[in-house]
Amino acid sequence: MDFDYDADQLGLLEFGKELAGRFEDAYWQEADLEYRFPREFWSALTEHGLLGLTVPEEYGGGGKGLLELAIAVEGIAEGGGGMEGGTLLVSGPVFGGCILTRHGSAEQKQRYLPGLVTGDLWAGAFTEPESGSNISAIKTKAERKGDSYVLNGQKVYISQVGNASHIVVMARTSPLDEAHRTAGISLLLGHLPDPAVKAHPFKKLGNHFMDTNRVYFTDYAVPLENLVGEEGRAWRALYDILNPERIVFAAAAVGTGMLAIRKAVEYASERNVWGKPIGTHQGVQFPLAQARIALATARLKTYEAAWLYDRGRDCGIAAATAKYASAHAALAAADAAIQTYGGAGYVVDSGIERHWRNLRLYRLSPVTDEMTLNYIAQHDLGMPRSY
Ligand SMILES: Cc1cc2nc3c(=O)[nH]c(=O)nc-3n(C[C@H](O)[C@H](O)[C@H](O)COP(=O)(O)OP(=O)(O)OC[C@H]3O[C@@H](n4cnc5c(N)ncnc54)[C@H](O)[C@@H]3O)c2cc1C
Repeated sequence: MDFDYDADQLGLLEFGKELAGRFEDAYWQEADLEYRFPREFWSALTEHGLLGLTVPEEYGGGGKGLLELAIAVEGIAEGGGGMEGGTLLVSGPVFGGCILTRHGSAEQKQRYLPGLVTGDLWAGAFTEPESGSNISAIKTKAERKGDSYVLNGQKVYISQVGNASHIVVMARTSPLDEAHRTAGISLLLGHLPDPAVKAHPFKKLGNHFMDTNRVYFTDYAVPLENLVGEEGRAWRALYDILNPERIVFAAAAVGTGMLAIRKAVEYASERNVWGKPIGTHQGVQFPLAQARIALATARLKTYEAAWLYDRGRDCGIAAATAKYASAHAALAAADAAIQTYGGAGYVVDSGIERHWRNLRLYRLSPVTDEMTLNYIAQHDLGMPRSY
């Protein structure tokens, strides 16, 4: 066991922080207030090779693993990018990169992986209004017609559709069979924009930098060659999106929690209401120290999950544990930071409440706390499935 970063990993952590530090808090505040996509930051990620970090070198990428991506994401979030800067790295490296690197055909890799390096943005459409967490019960249909699959159906809470050039859609290529619920599910790779795909964005609590939409597919044609993996057998492959997604979100949450703590410690050393800084009171120190401990442990689990993924080993339990632990630890950190700021923490201008609003999402997405606990109870503890 080796707990040291190697030189590349340390370089990525530091570079992530440094790059994010070039964008002031006001930049992210504005994106939040205006529901604006941070295009300049996306361009910076592209320019410095971070979007292509995990793309194999033969396709122009950095050839690094998910562990390196997670470390870079953590650095970006901690350096000031928060959840906005950190989670952007899902919309390409994970939705496009992870799935194609493991399950794409040679032709798909040739066609799509280089685009990830140069900034193609990908969305992932899995959740549906009726089935929710019960994702094998999805109803969106993909029917073979001539040289295409034709998709019809509805998805909900799908992020980044407004900015994406590509979308991975989970659809049924055969009807639900109660005896084999996960059979008949396929992954299809579509191009955007397309008049057959209508997206209606929601107003929401946080993460305003990305659009999140109700999406309607009406006779959306995807060429047959854009099937990823085997028709009707995508369930296993899907986990090569869902697990890295959990890991990258976990890394972003750890970094954002650290960012919130740093801001709170700075504020506590300056704010003076009893003749000495509030940071000298244990009542102010302890919640921040507790959050620091929880983040440090969540970080280790996140690295372990990424390490397992990179070795092609089962990382499901580790990824679920990391995402749960990180979401809770980071939310507690942001909450403690608001408390440290007092009334100022509740005010938008402080740049603190935004982190709490953004982080709150990760207790319910991409998988809810309850479904994570169901999974751990069943798969880690060997208890019966309750639903
Ligand atoms: C801002 C945002 C962005 C998102 N982006 C995307 C995206 O890009 N792509 C995408 O595909 N999806 C996306 N999602 C969807 C997200 O993954 C889902 O919201 C999430 O998986 C939960 O599904 P649901 O909202 O239908 O909740 P439901 O399944 O309706 O669950 C509601 C509540 O019931 C609980 N519950 C349900 N079943 C059980 C059970 N068996 N045991 C115990 N409790 C249970 C849940 O844990 C939850 O607390 C996004 C969501 C949001 C809010």
